[in-house]
Amino acid sequence: MAGGYRDHVTTTVDRLTRLVRDVPDFPLPGIAFRDITPLLADADALADTVRGLAEPWAGTGITGVVGIEARGFIVAAPVALHLRTGFAPVRKAGKLPWKVARETYELEYGTDTLEIHADALASGDRVLVVDDVLATGGTAAATIRLVEGLGAEVVGVAVIIELAALGGRDRLQGRDVRALVTDR
Ligand code: AMP
Repeated sequence: MAGGYRDHVTTTVDRLTRLVRDVPDFPLPGIAFRDITPLLADADALADTVRGLAEPWAGTGITGVVGIEARGFIVAAPVALHLRTGFAPVRKAGKLPWKVARETYELEYGTDTLEIHADALASGDRVLVVDDVLATGGTAAATIRLVEGLGAEVVGVAVIIELAALGGRDRLQGRDVRALVTDR
């Protein structure tokens, strides 16, 4: 049916997909970097992205949005505005000035550490975790541990792009994970 809701959604996803630029061998050989800057530069695509990330969670009682450094911040704060909640940053080690909770997680080579302010969330908070790309899921899993370590509940994870072949969703089993674009 031309012009129906399904057509509209398909067109939007196609347009967002086209606005993600794949940059080969960045930052390391063999990695295809999903560059969202063309999408961010397009007014309609930016608005559709923020709305698309936020809308599934409207009415679910989210009380806080957590964004993951650094590209996650760009979309997480407007998602928080859309859901009318507060925003809390999860940052790489050593960036947050106040008392922090910390989680270290495995990378392909070595480890990385993420931090959140210890007073950013509390028991009773219902949290949406937002990032640009879900790859192996290690970053999102560590963020979930940080949020739950503060006593808050993770209601779901919202990303612009899911790299399905890397199995991030398996690592987040039992979680409600929503992606605007799934890259197979
Ligand atoms: P992972 O922990 O493997 O799921 O990686 C997710 C994090 O790394 C996110 O914060 C992304 O911003 C970043 N990331 C991983 N792979 C890519 C990629 N191919 N293109 C862009 N960002 C990526």
